[in-house]
Amino acid sequence: MVEDAGQPSYRAKQLFQALYTQRVNSADQVSTLPKEFRSMLADEGISLGLPGIQKKFISFDGTVRYLIELADHETIETVWMPQGDGGEAGDGSEAGAEIEAHNPRSWRRATICVSSQVGCAVNCQFCLTALLGIKRNLNAGEIAGQVMAVLQDQKVSPPDERVNLVFMGMGEPFLNYDNFIKATRLLVEGVGLPESRMTVSTAGIVPRIYDLGAESVRPKLAISLAAPNDALRSQLMPINRKWNLEQLLGAAREFPLRNREKITFEYVLLKDVNDSPLHARELAELVRGVKCKVNLIALNPGPGIQFEMPEQNRVLEFQKILAGANVPVFVRRPRGRDIYAACGQLKRTVEMAT
Ligand code: SAH
Repeated sequence: MVEDAGQPSYRAKQLFQALYTQRVNSADQVSTLPKEFRSMLADEGISLGLPGIQKKFISFDGTVRYLIELADHETIETVWMPQGDGGEAGDGSEAGAEIEAHNPRSWRRATICVSSQVGCAVNCQFCLTALLGIKRNLNAGEIAGQVMAVLQDQKVSPPDERVNLVFMGMGEPFLNYDNFIKATRLLVEGVGLPESRMTVSTAGIVPRIYDLGAESVRPKLAISLAAPNDALRSQLMPINRKWNLEQLLGAAREFPLRNREKITFEYVLLKDVNDSPLHARELAELVRGVKCKVNLIALNPGPGIQFEMPEQNRVLEFQKILAGANVPVFVRRPRGRDIYAACGQLKRTVEMAT
């Protein structure tokens, strides 16, 4: 937009910094911008500011789920997940961790989960966002704006080294690649959030994995597997028919990791579908030789989803098998179940109720 207006691209960064870190709400207040540019923005009626928080749900565990309204009245979800001061590790994902009531003032770390699209086109069978279909891509300002809106609401001034960011909300970031990368740059260069604290998750858009590897500024990479073989994965995640596991794991093996970096494989566990000891052994074999960790996520069930949550002992057995094969493996704690915090659940539940 800034370039369309005949302005150099660094103006976008200046604008972003002013809007998001100095919290101005009109271009007129941005003294670093040339006068003509400021009045052009005003003349064209271009309004500036953060996306608005339409609804906010607070869970007993501290998770806050935001329904965010965009300029065209579409809504997306953004989630704030604090981890307490009870000695929990990084992403709060260690096995067997109890869900604790949360004291909002005592968080040591927090993760913000942002959306990249309104809805999603990938159609994973266990995902609620899939049921919404795809409405549109978010632009870079809308992606980065979610982070700033949440930080502002949580009264956190960026850069804050306790804040992590995951592109794991609604949508497939790699089907909106350019805007996702632009948003990353705005957040890293404009706001000062470190790229090492950001993770992008993909359902497996293989060519974009190679693209990400070539970026000079990029988040860490997570890949959603959900199945250890092509037959099952093609059923659960139709994208596997386009790029199969051999192509996907090939891209993972070739991905240029930074110092001490690992790829995360996410594996959502579905009762009696992909949670057997045999699946665990197959998964260990599949990821062998990749510098990685595996995050196991018990299904967050929801309306319209035909799968069930696995038994807790199956989850632990699955984890044990991977750990026994020397694969670092974590069980992700369910967060905010009482406020419909499964992927896409809030928007869908609100839509179904209205
Ligand atoms: N499109 C991207 C990012 C959004 S999904 C991707 O597929 O990776 C983020 C994570 O949530 C993925 O690992 C996905 O497998 C998982 N997920 C989706 N629906 C879920 C559900 N109902 N319960 C638990 N995890 C789910």
